[in-house]
Amino acid sequence: MIRIPDAVLPAPANGLLEQYQAEVDGQSNYADRVAAAKSLFSRRNKKTNLAFAAVRTTLTGMCRGLGRCMYCEDAPADEVEHHSPKDLYPELVFVWRNYLYACGPCNGPKNNRFAVIDPSNARLIDVSRLRDTPVVPPAAGAPALIDPRREDPFDFLMLDLRDTFQLTPLHVPQTPEYLRAEYTIRVLRLNERDLLVAARADAFGGYRARLREFVQQREAGASPSDLARLGNGFRTAPHATVWAEMKRQQQHLPELAELFAQAPEALAF
Ligand SMILES: [Zn+2]
Repeated sequence: MIRIPDAVLPAPANGLLEQYQAEVDGQSNYADRVAAAKSLFSRRNKKTNLAFAAVRTTLTGMCRGLGRCMYCEDAPADEVEHHSPKDLYPELVFVWRNYLYACGPCNGPKNNRFAVIDPSNARLIDVSRLRDTPVVPPAAGAPALIDPRREDPFDFLMLDLRDTFQLTPLHVPQTPEYLRAEYTIRVLRLNERDLLVAARADAFGGYRARLREFVQQREAGASPSDLARLGNGFRTAPHATVWAEMKRQQQHLPELAELFAQAPEALAF
């Protein structure tokens, strides 16, 4: 998971979202707001809806690689995902900044699972609403799930490039940062999906081969336009986190350090 550069939603679409949100917010109590959020979102989240057509186009432009999921980067993103679930936070159901673009395998298991960090003791509180339990507001606290639109996942997570290609928390156990990293990895199953982990290892080999080719072409006197084309290839290749982590860790990986020393401009790709 990598930081997603933010984008502005076109004003007409944003205006429609605000109207939709006002409809939810106008309900007289929390349970009615939750019910309205669920039914109005499923009715309006259609490709034929003007606001959601713009939401999908804008989110697609924000995705890394070729329209990949903002969480796993593996599958094509095709589901408008609420970072803070609409079943718990109906006040955010039609709010642009709460939207991410995700794939089914990430969005499905996450569903309405959510946790917050207790502001008084920095512990994790699971606020997922269980079936047949009262519809009441969740406990107060900041979201545990990392939001790649609003914070840099690299401040919380590290990808092991030497061996496992699994994500690990960057901070020491029991800090809020550790709890948030651990929760995000677990709820999105970022280490549990074997094919996802294998795809990261494969992407590592792909990026290393691209970097070798870039160094060779540069030494062979390739034209600036050819080098630019090779450079652009890094930006559309799959698993952007792997490449970003290769740049972050290159000084600890001799083979990469040597390649980057020969072509330092590749650190900007
Ligand atoms: Zn995904």
